[in-house]
Amino acid sequence: MAALTMTTPLSTTLSLNEIAERLQGYDPQALSARHVNDFLAQLVQPVREQETVPLMQAHGRILAQDVVSPISVPPHDNSAMDGYALRGAELRSDRPTPLKVVGTAFAGAAWQGNVNSGECVRIMTGAIMPPGLDTVAPQELIKVEGDTVHLPPGLLQPGDNRRLLGEDLMAGQAALHAGTRLNPAACGLLASLGLPTASVWRRPKVAYFSTGDEILSLGEAPREGAVYDSNRYTVAGMVLALGCELIDMGVVRDEPAALEHAFMAAAEQADAIVTSGGVSVGEADHTKAMMKKLGDVAFWRIAMRPGRPMAVGRIQRGDRSAVLFGLPGNPVAVMVTFAAFVRPALQQLMGWQAQPLPLLKARSTEALRKKPGRTEYQRGIVSTNAAGELQVSITGNQGSGVLSSMVQANGLIVLGHAQGNVAVGDEVDVMMFDGHL
Ligand code: AMP
Ligand code: MG
Repeated sequence: MAALTMTTPLSTTLSLNEIAERLQGYDPQALSARHVNDFLAQLVQPVREQETVPLMQAHGRILAQDVVSPISVPPHDNSAMDGYALRGAELRSDRPTPLKVVGTAFAGAAWQGNVNSGECVRIMTGAIMPPGLDTVAPQELIKVEGDTVHLPPGLLQPGDNRRLLGEDLMAGQAALHAGTRLNPAACGLLASLGLPTASVWRRPKVAYFSTGDEILSLGEAPREGAVYDSNRYTVAGMVLALGCELIDMGVVRDEPAALEHAFMAAAEQADAIVTSGGVSVGEADHTKAMMKKLGDVAFWRIAMRPGRPMAVGRIQRGDRSAVLFGLPGNPVAVMVTFAAFVRPALQQLMGWQAQPLPLLKARSTEALRKKPGRTEYQRGIVSTNAAGELQVSITGNQGSGVLSSMVQANGLIVLGHAQGNVAVGDEVDVMMFDGHL
């Protein structure tokens, strides 16, 4: 297959046919996982509406503008230790350096006074370095005799234990770039700059509903042939973990009127619509027909396991357009297709300049059967072996309906398109769940 290049999404909206024409080797009946990601990267337009939120509410949001430091952090040279501030040039290398203590510098205020040669100032962590002093001797190293301290030779270099003005951030320097997700560290950084608010992109609204007449909502009495709707809860968790807003539309009956109403209501409010069920080949239901009627939608067979069928497109409603992800119904297939395709697409919708999830390398503790020509995702448990190396074993039953194996697993072993069988001890790639699945 020809190598594909990731093209940046265009600001103009392309039809599905136009996107398909740009992708070399596009075959809706046998799409590689890579093709799917490339297709979606062209389909999804980021939400470009900004809002300003108090920093305490900014966690997990995506920065809409570059942030330039209004101040330097730290704002002064200061001490990294409790000890004695001195001139590094006065340190002796052959015998102890005696220095007379002429005052104490506390954090929070500048010490007022002059320090002559042969003198030092007792200093606390975070206190401003008195003028002319550039080195701090930690108090543990010091012998005190009356108002004189003695510094053993050879333990200190000039400049030790001093934090420099602006060593974290210099005023005028770019502190964070647009597209950064505000994680705890980034929120802390903005706080350190004294910024009480952040300009972030509006959170995309993601509407979700489950389809299928055999699907029971929680609270309904069990009946023969029916299963409870677990997809609604796994998808909700994954959407919320990303930081999107969820519009929970429950279960929609397999009737044209109910489906039409649901798709229209979703397209009116949401930036993306996720559904599960009813997209497999030979489905005797109305979901696919309704998607086709209401939107520009492609029905794919993806060379992957689990999760072969998927519908993708756009549903227009007035001047709004929502991206559609019609996921298969099987509970594990839903989670895998979400992790592999929907998640990166929603990240793009969020304006998040995210890196793809890093894949860990771990040695397989067992032989794995794998056919080249499709990407397989197996549920794995990563642990450390006696030698301290990462190893991965698969959870027992890999059936695409077996949700308990997703709970046991802490990652997905990703066996790439071209890969064949795996032998015991071979290294495989693992996508760690890390809180997102
Ligand atoms: P489908 O893709 O509609 O053919 O569904 C495939 C399998 O997934 C069937 O066994 C369904 O019963 C099951 N399934 C579909 N939707 C859900 C759901 N929302 N929750 C749990 N299982 C589901
Ligand atoms: Mg079905």
